[in-house]
Amino acid sequence: MASLKNKIVMITGASSGIGNACAEAFASKGANLILCARRIDRLAEIKKSLIKKYGINIFIAQLDVRKLRDVKKVIGSFPAQWKQIDILLNNAGLARGFSKVYEADITHWEEMIDTNVKGLLYVTRAILPKMVERKRGHIINIGSIAGHEVYMMGNVYCATKFAVNALTQSIRIDVLDKNIKVTSVDPGMVLTEFAKVRFSGDENSANKVYEGVTPLSPKDVAEAVIFSATRPENVNINEIILTPIIQASPAHIFRNKV
Ligand code: NAP
Repeated sequence: MASLKNKIVMITGASSGIGNACAEAFASKGANLILCARRIDRLAEIKKSLIKKYGINIFIAQLDVRKLRDVKKVIGSFPAQWKQIDILLNNAGLARGFSKVYEADITHWEEMIDTNVKGLLYVTRAILPKMVERKRGHIINIGSIAGHEVYMMGNVYCATKFAVNALTQSIRIDVLDKNIKVTSVDPGMVLTEFAKVRFSGDENSANKVYEGVTPLSPKDVAEAVIFSATRPENVNINEIILTPIIQASPAHIFRNKV
């Protein structure tokens, strides 16, 4: 098993849910972390708590992955000791709305495409050249089962996660001769702020998503990420798909009556 001690791991969307759980999981293995998100206050709290618990180094940066200029500027101004990133976890992402294409709010499409697809590309484009130069590194993308099968009203969110799936495969081919690993970890239903964000803070609709089920926890996903990141030098985990035991696909969910 490869060690993560003193490795530099950059996580986008580290202020909540899966990103936050991955930050803790990597910290517990002795990695040093670059944590990015828009909510810098949350990152500051996470930084304080993880340093206290694990004694690692953490650099935080406010970053909206949708803004190319900011991505270039923020990543370009990382201090020298934080420039050699070993693992990039492209996790920042969201779903907005739940409607048919002919009724959808187009601003929701823009936000999902800009964050989940273009944001992932911008960050990868900024980080990957150094990995190519060093001939080492690992890109881990958080995709979704929605990148493998569509579901009713999922249209554009599913399209963005199909795109993440395609990009993971394509980038793996791009860097085949560069000794760089490329993985996607694709979860089913996870209990995070995801549903609250999707329904713009409407708690009722968000709670319905998890009614009668025990979803994955962010920690369950973080364990899959850590597994991918700790394989021997010669092993690349291409893809991990994980769901809660009551979910067989985005559309097949067994709910206990409440
Ligand atoms: P979450 O709790 O809402 O976390 C989303 C994270 O993404 C937050 O830290 C948020 O930080 C960040 N983010 C959103 N827009 C951003 C932007 N423009 N720039 C930078 N950061 C941004 O939801 P989550 O479930 O952990 O989601 C993480 C990933 O898992 C997403 O890619 C999602 O598609 C995927 N996923 C989730 C589920 C699920 O059921 N929860 C299932 C499959 C896949 P700020 O708001 O502070 O910027």
